[in-house]
Amino acid sequence: MSQAPSSQSVGSVYIVGSGPGELELLTLRAARLIGEADAIVYDHLIAEGVLDLARPDAEKIYAGKESSNHSVPQAELNRLLVRLARAGKKVVRLKGGDPFVFGRGGEEIETLVDSGVPFEVVPGVTAAAGCAAYAGIPLTHRDHAQAVAFATGHLKDGTINLDWPSLARPRLTVVFYMGVGGLPEICRQMIAHGLPADHPAAVVQNGTTSRQRVLTADLGTLPEKVAAAGIRSPALIIVGTVVRLQQKLAWFRPRPSGERD
Ligand code: SAH
Repeated sequence: MSQAPSSQSVGSVYIVGSGPGELELLTLRAARLIGEADAIVYDHLIAEGVLDLARPDAEKIYAGKESSNHSVPQAELNRLLVRLARAGKKVVRLKGGDPFVFGRGGEEIETLVDSGVPFEVVPGVTAAAGCAAYAGIPLTHRDHAQAVAFATGHLKDGTINLDWPSLARPRLTVVFYMGVGGLPEICRQMIAHGLPADHPAAVVQNGTTSRQRVLTADLGTLPEKVAAAGIRSPALIIVGTVVRLQQKLAWFRPRPSGERD
């Protein structure tokens, strides 16, 4: 293994969460680092307009969407971050939501640690928090849910490998990321493990943005409703009786694109 250069010549990598979509949900720290960066390596799902905060001369590198064929393989991406930092650059690795929630932030940092590259992690508003707030669905509520779980609904070989008995519980809110394709399976498993078919469930597409769509139903009917409405990724699925509050608490009115306040 080659020796890491002295810390004077090595840049830093900032693993930065860009929040769920609405630009103003970016942290002040994220905005400052993006404005200072020499290089920005960004993902598919970053807040719209966030790259406009970058210096005009900053190098902007698209790392793509993890599930698409055009994405940069993870190992190559990890090496790219190390290479940029070793060239003395201030690198921002920009991710959607929060880097440590289904964001592979941990994997990228391991390579940085192994290579002796200094790094920092900047948390972001994760999609569950952003979508819940903008849909009017509190994730916890004294009358409904005393705990909340974030789960991946990603389908692999037609199944989702989750501990269903621990998720199909009363008084628990479960938020599924990457779950649109697996929605019928999610609802089927939650019912098979004890929740009633009329247990409330919702989908939030493009949460916090002007294109936000919210559909509420129950475990028995949500897949059909979502298919009929043509809901696609990025979308979150929220399961729990907190969904009943949405009708009363919804406050956000998405606007046609281009309209600003
Ligand atoms: N690190 C991110 C999650 C990455 S996984 C975070 O903390 O939010 C990508 C998944 O996040 C999508 O498949 C979708 O389920 C969810 N997601 C991200 N942005 C979203 C948005 N604006 N609206 C709804 N779901 C979103």
